[in-house]
Amino acid sequence: MVRYPIFAGQFYIIPVIANGMKNSPFNLNIQNSDTDHRIVAALERVSQAFRIMLWNESKNLSLTPIQIQTLIFLQNHSEEKRTVTYLAREFNITKATVSDTIKTLHQKELITRQYQQEDTRSYTIHLSSKGNEIATKASLFTRELFAPIEKLNSPEKESFLLNLLEIIHHLQKAGIISLQRMCFTCVHYRPDHPKGNHFCDLLNMKLETRELRIDCPEHEEKPA
Ligand code: SF4
Repeated sequence: MVRYPIFAGQFYIIPVIANGMKNSPFNLNIQNSDTDHRIVAALERVSQAFRIMLWNESKNLSLTPIQIQTLIFLQNHSEEKRTVTYLAREFNITKATVSDTIKTLHQKELITRQYQQEDTRSYTIHLSSKGNEIATKASLFTRELFAPIEKLNSPEKESFLLNLLEIIHHLQKAGIISLQRMCFTCVHYRPDHPKGNHFCDLLNMKLETRELRIDCPEHEEKPA
């Protein structure tokens, strides 16, 4: 038997059925007595909200969520990243799934394919003007999230951003998500530099916490 504090001066007795259950952030007795577990549960709610917002946008545009995500990615990234291989790594899905998505987007006249001269099986993907229009509209699916974030003051936003970046960095190191183009994983990033806690060698400048990037066009992956 383990005792978990519920609130000051009170304890709730929880029988430990199994280790997994003991640590579950969804076990309400544990969740309601521990801030870490409540933060994990809260992140799960936010991720659920992302899925719902994306799903609603997809229905409005008669596309699937992965088709929407692909269009938004293509709109915002340079040509060398607009390949089947890169998209598969970006979304943690198979190349076959990406190829199917690209085929459908092509049939809907939302993208075009530019085949390589040296290898006619490989191609880069470009948005058509119709695809560009839909990507612009679809990328606003996160709009509801701005209202609570705008209410935070600057130090709160900086701290929130830093915490999120550290969570993402940890998830990448743990092998759960791949391919992050953030400062923490970049060959040009210098932590604890004499000019500041965060320094970019490429831009040759100190980065304020609020300037740390989550998706940088100049990012070069640090060797493992
Ligand atoms: S190149 Fe971009 S990702 Fe890399 S350290 Fe500089 S700002 Fe950060």
